[in-house]
Amino acid sequence: MQVLGLVERHGPTTRRALSDALGMHAASLNRLVAGLLERGVLRTVDSDATGRRGRPSEVIALDPDAGVVVGLEFGRDRLTGVVLDATGTVALVADDLEAPPFEGTAATFDALGDTVRQLARRAGVARERVRATGIALHDVVTAEGGWHTQERLHDPPVDALGELEPRLGHRVVVDDVSRAFALAEHRYGAGQGESDMVYVFIGSHGVGGGFFVNGRMVVSSTGICGEIGHVVVDEGGERCQCGGIGCLETIASQRALERRFEALRAAGVATRVAPGARLGTICRAAGAGDKAAGLVLADLADALGRALASAVNLLGTPVVVVGGDLRHAAGPFLARVDASLRPRVVAGLVQRLTVRYATLPPHAGAWGAATLARETALREGAFLDHVPSALAAS
Ligand SMILES: [Zn+2]
Repeated sequence: MQVLGLVERHGPTTRRALSDALGMHAASLNRLVAGLLERGVLRTVDSDATGRRGRPSEVIALDPDAGVVVGLEFGRDRLTGVVLDATGTVALVADDLEAPPFEGTAATFDALGDTVRQLARRAGVARERVRATGIALHDVVTAEGGWHTQERLHDPPVDALGELEPRLGHRVVVDDVSRAFALAEHRYGAGQGESDMVYVFIGSHGVGGGFFVNGRMVVSSTGICGEIGHVVVDEGGERCQCGGIGCLETIASQRALERRFEALRAAGVATRVAPGARLGTICRAAGAGDKAAGLVLADLADALGRALASAVNLLGTPVVVVGGDLRHAAGPFLARVDASLRPRVVAGLVQRLTVRYATLPPHAGAWGAATLARETALREGAFLDHVPSALAAS
């Protein structure tokens, strides 16, 4: 598995580089690589074109035909899917899927299982060549794959992993939707190439986060971590659904922001935005100079800066990526978050502090779930049970 992990992290590489990195004798390494080539997980590509004389060294890469992984993002009235090949290339994006009821029932898990098989068909891949599926669920997900919806937060979790794995017959990973978005941004978007990153996402029911330290996503043994929405930013504020007072989420959820906007309108603050506007519209209006929308986002930026300062200082992660609809508020909003955050960040980190928007499209949640599935499958050897048809026939 170490060989696959290295090829995954560093991209196409030579046998020499692999044996150096692993501290392994060339003969042993060659035996391992030969096995992986035979099993169709690795392949050789164009020889090393460095212009050196003598025998060019073969370059070893993951084989895109080693199988695929599927990722789903599932929320209220929301189901998107992505299929990745073994190298991580996007083979299919599906944003036209019908979402089953957002609940932990057998019918919903059946529907999710059917969706995975449907995506494999659409991608032109036989069902048994799906190596793993990642599912990003909204609300709360535990490390064991348990799932709590907001409506049933205090009931025992539903065993989403235990329900899905037998239905699909392959490895399933279940994770929090914010972490899935964060993972996609870290690997392919605004955080690409960064070792350390804080990602924050404003959702309809709360605020999510994803944290990277030394290139790895921080996940505790409980799985419930990175709850930046429950950092207290206003001691005298409103009661939060968690039971605390003045959590970031009481100010920063989509619902709270939309309520605050309506209150300002009712108080006679000038605005061109029609009543009942959603967060995306409010953000666009603020970016275009609307007064009431601007006030809502100014309060949000101040609160967000205070909460983010705790995360940046605790983890030592000066790269901050802001996801979701907030990007429509453009530069002035980021500048305001920066202005709230910067004075609260410790010396040594503050010089490297940057606040930027996420850059990936809305299917990034499913993409992140698929990425998690792919990295898990590579690490655990789920791509290895592939027997090349030539061997199977013999
Ligand atoms: Zn709270």
